[in-house]
Amino acid sequence: MKLLLIEDEPAVVSVITRGLTEAGYEVSVAPDGASGLRMALDNPIFSLIILDVMLPALNGIEVCKAIRREEIATPILMLTALGTTENIVMGLDSGADDYLVKPFKLQELEARIRSLLRRKSGVAAPVVNTPVLQMGNLMLNTDTKAATRAGSDIQLTATEYRLLEYLLRNPRKVLSRMEILEQVWGIDFNMNTKVVDVYINYLRKKLNKNGQPELIQTVTGLGYMLKDNNLDEDTP
Ligand code: CA
Repeated sequence: MKLLLIEDEPAVVSVITRGLTEAGYEVSVAPDGASGLRMALDNPIFSLIILDVMLPALNGIEVCKAIRREEIATPILMLTALGTTENIVMGLDSGADDYLVKPFKLQELEARIRSLLRRKSGVAAPVVNTPVLQMGNLMLNTDTKAATRAGSDIQLTATEYRLLEYLLRNPRKVLSRMEILEQVWGIDFNMNTKVVDVYINYLRKKLNKNGQPELIQTVTGLGYMLKDNNLDEDTP
């Protein structure tokens, strides 16, 4: 399996290349954003791209946007030394699938890579019993991936879809940020859960258009719960 590593720090390149080669991956390296972008566009054979944010010539955010503009859907794992919510959101909004904050352990990197490759191949997709999940007037068809609220279409990004599907599969249950992170982002070690709050807010904005009542309830100190307060009073 071929991976592209776009990273300018020789020490990081050497550690990652050695570790991933030992894990059985074939790693190609680009030392700056411009050459990395060229390699990504010229060789759509890569199964995954590891992309540093702080790069000479063209930064990681610009590289990521350019790759997505060319409609190349290769999973992108972003490496950032700047673990603030703004930077993480900027990375994900530019089209990255996941991010890792430096410094990280090699085994963390490998876990993220496996998770992204699994997600891409669809192996991690949950077993579907019924194609339509529902909460009040919110419907999600897991076959067509179409979401509607009170009959109006809701356009969701891939991450928003996974988040909404997870919430709908666990209605009226308090879900902690860490649980949501693990289930939706597929990560099984400690990391910043702020990204969950960010995506819950994205989803709320889309679900609550046209004055529809809130379905994603905040449970202070614990997490979130999908619940229709207008409908659920009488149901067990
Ligand atoms: Ca760098």
